[in-house]
Amino acid sequence: MDLISITQKRFESAITLSVIVPYFNESAVLPALHARLTATLDQIPERCEIIYVDDGSNDDSLQLVEHFQSTSSIVRSVSLSRNFGKESAMSAGLEYSRGEAVILIDADLQDPPELIPQMLAKWREGYDVVNMQRKERHGETWLKRRSAAAFYRLLNSLAKASIPENVGDFRLLSRRVVNHINQMPERNRYMKGIFSWPGFSQYTMQFDRDPRFCGETKWNYFKLFGLAVDGITSFSIRPLRLATLFGSLIALGAFFYGMVIVTQTLLWGSDVSGYPSLMVAQLAIGGIQLLSIGILGEYIGRIFIESKQRPLFLVRSVKEKPAVMVFEPMEKRA
Ligand code: UDP
Ligand code: MG
Repeated sequence: MDLISITQKRFESAITLSVIVPYFNESAVLPALHARLTATLDQIPERCEIIYVDDGSNDDSLQLVEHFQSTSSIVRSVSLSRNFGKESAMSAGLEYSRGEAVILIDADLQDPPELIPQMLAKWREGYDVVNMQRKERHGETWLKRRSAAAFYRLLNSLAKASIPENVGDFRLLSRRVVNHINQMPERNRYMKGIFSWPGFSQYTMQFDRDPRFCGETKWNYFKLFGLAVDGITSFSIRPLRLATLFGSLIALGAFFYGMVIVTQTLLWGSDVSGYPSLMVAQLAIGGIQLLSIGILGEYIGRIFIESKQRPLFLVRSVKEKPAVMVFEPMEKRA
């Protein structure tokens, strides 16, 4: 094949890989990310695209991205109309992706882009999902590491679909998995669960997650708690059963305790005492009732949100830049 037809093929063939980068106010790190990402994608002989999803940033991230060029990949910039949260931004990226394989990656360089060729190699072996599991959580506090571990244990003991521990959103999905995810109608996007739900053949690869390149994490403990509750309530109804179980146990206990008191009164008469035990029982039952109502409320709230059927995100603009490469580098002509 001559040079022109090879170049032609590269530009006309279907897109093999889409890399989705959701970002929110990341102007300090985006140029470094783009440089590393394009350098990696240049090594891949097939056609690639990078989809940057602007999650309503209010710094100059979007302007930066719209000026990004790439020698071998298409650069697509999707801008959401406001900040919808990372989960929605990722959903938007999945909808706008066209690749046969799709990789989601954080903008803050915590997920090294250099691992992309290895992930793609696993996909070529036939895996539909390549989960990237963190070996070490560098740059995270002891409390965050412990609470994350406890959360995964709780979630996996409750939910049916097994959600791999310490696997973030950095992962590869095949086109059929992406299509299934795009069809999932729920508004409540707990993505770690949604990615695991379709199943198919999964491969888990270990990697060292780097500390944030610069800037601050956008997650505080309050938000993380919300995410944890989301995760549990959107993938399991066991908390509701737990409430039923607690209620039954306490009712049963109260019945037997009542029997004991009746017997005691019949045998030995009664005197007015037992104020502390009364109080304890009262408070315990009150607490459990409130807790159960809270759990019920979580699910009702979710039904409320789902029933409104609002779109997950609104897109302000989509811009696309083709690859600027004119000549194929030597090593790719083979
Ligand atoms: N992000 C986003 N929308 C948000 C918050 C975060 O798109 O509302 C992006 C953020 O720019 C980054 C990724 O999600 O690319 C992960 O965010 P962060 O590093 O703050 O989370 P952590 O790594 O601490 O889980
Ligand atoms: Mg991060």
